[in-house]
Amino acid sequence: MLKRAIAVCVIIGLLAGCSSPNTEKEKDTGNKVDEVEKVDKEALEKEQNGARNYFEEMLTAVENNDKTKFMSYQDESNELFYKEQEVWVKELIQRKNEGWEISVGINNITLESLDHGSLELKINMKLNDEDISNHITYPINKIDGKWKVNDLAFKKIVDGPINLYYLPFIENDAEVILADIKDLVNLYTETFGWEPEELNIKLYTSLEEISASTGWPHLYGVAVPFISLKFLVQGSYSESTYSLMKHEIVHMMFSDLANDNTPTFLQEGLATFVSTAVTKDNSGKPQLDFSKIAERESIILENMEEIKPIDNLKDLNYTDDDVDIYGMGFLITDYLIQTNGIEKYVDMTKILKKDEVVDSDNPDREKIVFERAIQALEETYGSLEELSSGYVDYFNNKQ
Ligand SMILES: [Zn+2]
Repeated sequence: MLKRAIAVCVIIGLLAGCSSPNTEKEKDTGNKVDEVEKVDKEALEKEQNGARNYFEEMLTAVENNDKTKFMSYQDESNELFYKEQEVWVKELIQRKNEGWEISVGINNITLESLDHGSLELKINMKLNDEDISNHITYPINKIDGKWKVNDLAFKKIVDGPINLYYLPFIENDAEVILADIKDLVNLYTETFGWEPEELNIKLYTSLEEISASTGWPHLYGVAVPFISLKFLVQGSYSESTYSLMKHEIVHMMFSDLANDNTPTFLQEGLATFVSTAVTKDNSGKPQLDFSKIAERESIILENMEEIKPIDNLKDLNYTDDDVDIYGMGFLITDYLIQTNGIEKYVDMTKILKKDEVVDSDNPDREKIVFERAIQALEETYGSLEELSSGYVDYFNNKQ
């Protein structure tokens, strides 16, 4: 029966169109879908062009160092991302002040609907013979009639004060990474009396993306005081990411302990000193092994032309002075901790903690925190002159 009915319908259909009410209805709906799709496509294209022009203005704001205007394009409901974007635009201004030529452009903008899409930014950074391009694709959403940039599609695990954000590609490694972070935080808590209130950690999977999100040309890990830590996990979690975590978590701790009143050479000094000493014991837990310090000390001393007095480490910046920041910073910290112990060092951070935080984009920040650090060092260890000559002699004798 069924077969026959279909056959009949096919014949009639060939002659005069098979006009059962059902088929008609389907056809109708089909046409409407086509029309709606056409209208949608036009509307989407129009919206897309509008969005492109709109975001071009955001980039003009970046070019003009107009932080407020740039921030008006960021999704404020994502608090952490919003703070990070503020840091990003400040960092770019800082890099420009250090001599970098920076341009930000739109590589691509695609809308999936009239209120959702993605924006790919390309960031070019040039200094001397370095010329680096990074890009990153942010989701964008139309909120109350305005397009806003939001963060990459991170997943999140919360464990005590730790919020671990990771991209889905590295889902399998997230728990192991979290366990390592917890162990390091515990070790630093026991050693320095640090009690973090909140520690945000973001794991990226591409060097271009993490660099583009930070205002640095090549970046594998970074600590932004009071806001977040970012790390690159390329392919899968490895020893190199762990080494960065050992180091960058110290920065977060030091900023908490000293209210971020730490000049660059002390920051990098402590982070390099502590991370050098961290090894894993037989059970895989981190511990401090100061015998590791001697190896690093001798490498630095071999390559250091002159042991500079502390007073010469004023107003350093990462673009020009990395040898002093990391090398001298390590030696000074090494001297302070090896000769007077960790407890006394922590006492020094307590003095710094009493001072207010200096805004990161204050052009005098490094000078201000340097003066504060000198005062705290003198209060803790005695006059700067004696301290300085003590440490210069200590290393000259080893050199
Ligand atoms: Zn560092």
